[in-house]
Amino acid sequence: MNNGKIFIFSAPSGSGKSTIINHLLSKGYNLEFSISATSRAPRGTEKNGVEYYFLSPEEFRQKISNDEFIEYEEVYQDCFYGTLKSEVQRIADNGNNIVLDIDVKGATNVKKMFGEKALSIFIAPPSIEALRERLVNRKTDTPEAIEKRVAKASYEMTFAKNFDVVIVNDNLDTAQKNAEEVTNQFLAK
Ligand code: 5GP
Repeated sequence: MNNGKIFIFSAPSGSGKSTIINHLLSKGYNLEFSISATSRAPRGTEKNGVEYYFLSPEEFRQKISNDEFIEYEEVYQDCFYGTLKSEVQRIADNGNNIVLDIDVKGATNVKKMFGEKALSIFIAPPSIEALRERLVNRKTDTPEAIEKRVAKASYEMTFAKNFDVVIVNDNLDTAQKNAEEVTNQFLAK
């Protein structure tokens, strides 16, 4: 049966990863987004159980000690993010394939764990300079925050070689078509 496959997406922030993931989810590939748990506070209109399962640091720690995560990382200082075993099970029980949106370290670990059952996809900006420009134009970050994100992005780019597929998001339309192609190929396997 064509289910239980795992699509792992990772990218520096500002690469357009979420747009590409949402595009794929809207295409009816029986893909379902894995909602991660996080210890960070909700932002804007985010709701518990939609974007994330929002947990207190204590609740998150409890789940770590109960061995409830497939993987978890401290992506930002004091902010934990993790993929719950129960979430992956829920999606598999629905008969769907799983989409993970996780950081580069988590992605590398999950790929090692699931091997051929997983396809890891890195969404890259055309260049670090282009990424900086996007973040500046987005006007959501201070110049200091932008420099932090850019520095982190340079580090994250060094992980690209660990991924099965790298999609350079120079043109969104082309990147989305590439993503559809690799999805079709992997689902057909
Ligand atoms: P944000 O706080 O902007 O929503 O997400 C920050 C980062 O955490 C993103 O790079 C996202 O991919 C990553 N992330 C979200 N969920 C998980 C998870 O379950 N595990 C890991 N390792 N990273 C995650």
